[in-house]
Amino acid sequence: MTIAERWDAVETRLAKALQKTGRRREEITLLAVTKVFPAEVIREAYELGLREFGENYVQEFETKHPAVSDLGEAQFHLIGHLQSNKSRRAAELFHVVQTVDSPKLVRRLEEAAASTLDVMIEVKLSEEDAKAGCAPADLPELIDAIASLPKLRLKGLMTMPPWNEDAETTRPYFRRLRELGERHGVKGLSMGMSHDFEVAVEEGSTCIRVGTALFGRRVRK
Ligand SMILES: *Cc1c(COP(=O)(O)O)cnc(C)c1O
Repeated sequence: MTIAERWDAVETRLAKALQKTGRRREEITLLAVTKVFPAEVIREAYELGLREFGENYVQEFETKHPAVSDLGEAQFHLIGHLQSNKSRRAAELFHVVQTVDSPKLVRRLEEAAASTLDVMIEVKLSEEDAKAGCAPADLPELIDAIASLPKLRLKGLMTMPPWNEDAETTRPYFRRLRELGERHGVKGLSMGMSHDFEVAVEEGSTCIRVGTALFGRRVRK
């Protein structure tokens, strides 16, 4: 299948989920997740009309960046965990950092940002140790820290629930993120991936992060 055909299939699935909940297509950002794929894939997707791209690793995107930096309308989002020693580079390369999860990162990104930088707070909703993200109880502190700084602009909350083939199993996590957003007055919600974005959209997602369903399986060489 071509990227165009896969994109069509994603839009069809998305349209059904939107119809079910009475939401509009403009409420959803389709973030094309291009990790592992070469820069040519980003260019091809851009030619087709995709504009928002997600990458997981600062170093990987650094090598691709020269080949995509002329794509004037492209917005690149960092969706993988960010180590604070890479925050300077991240602030230079990305338009949005979706994985802010500590006061230290907040400070480093503010220092590194040339002008404004859009950020999201990654929230950890499960007890899995390996998962990055800020604990729900620490959200107020982080939200206040971002609000107090001139360059960082808080655009929403992001979460990556434990992987489960069955999207319904993930629904409570999506619901929880929406509730946290409502409680703390944060509007954007980055949640939902290839296999479960319909459920995420039903639960209020404003940004679905889709890799496999657009580009096929990732094979690391
Ligand atoms: C890889 C990745 C995605 C995309 O996953 P797919 O299942 O390929 O759609 C979304 N979000 C994050 C944080 C990822 O690391």
